[in-house]
Amino acid sequence: MMTGKLYVLSGPSGVGKGTLREHALNDKPNLKYSVSCTTRQPREGEIDGVEYRFISHDTFRDYISRGLFLEYAHVHEDYYGTLKQDVMTQLEAGNNVLLEIDVQGALQVKAKMPEAVLVFVAPPSAEILEQRLRGRHTESEEALKVRLANAMKELAMKDEYDYVIVNDDLDSACEELRKIIS
Ligand code: 5GP
Repeated sequence: MMTGKLYVLSGPSGVGKGTLREHALNDKPNLKYSVSCTTRQPREGEIDGVEYRFISHDTFRDYISRGLFLEYAHVHEDYYGTLKQDVMTQLEAGNNVLLEIDVQGALQVKAKMPEAVLVFVAPPSAEILEQRLRGRHTESEEALKVRLANAMKELAMKDEYDYVIVNDDLDSACEELRKIIS
C-alpha cells in the first residue's frame, strides 16, 4: 500500500533547484529527499550519502543489471540514478518523497508512476541562467558549456511537466512550490 506522494523536481543546472529543494524539505517534515547515486566525482564539501551516493561505474552497471533503479540517466558525462527501494520504503511509510532529477529521469518516473507530480523550475531567461551558472564557479569552462547545452535541451521539455515554476524571485518560487506540495 503506497500512501505518500512522489514529487519530481527538474530544471537546468544553475536555476536554483537546490535552494528550492532545501526550502521545501525544511518546510515539510514528512517530505523526504531521495539521495541519488552518481558516478561523478564529489565536489568540494560534498559528503558521500548526503548530496549523493558516490559510486563507481562498475557498481552503477551492477545496480542497472539488478534492476535496482526506479530511473537512471546519463547526464553531462556521468550516470545518475534513483534507487527504487529508497523511494518505495518512504512512500509505504506514508511520507512524501522529493526527487531532484533530470528531464530524462523524470519522464521515466512518470511512465512508471503516473501519479507522480512533476515540477519544472525554469530560469527567467537563458541569459540569466548563463550568468548564474558562471557565478557559481563550480565547473570548468568545458563542463559549463556541456551544462548550458543541456540546459537548452531541458528547457525544451518543460511542457511535459505538471507545473512550471519560473524562478525570477526566490521567495515567490518557494511559495509556489510550497503550494504544489501541500
Ligand atoms: P549535479 O552533478 O550538478 O549535482 O547534477 C547534475 C544533474 O543531474 C542535475 O540536473 C540533477 O537534477 C541530475 N540528477 C541528480 N540526481 C539524479 C538522478 O538520480 N537521476 C537523474 N535522472 N538525474 C539526476
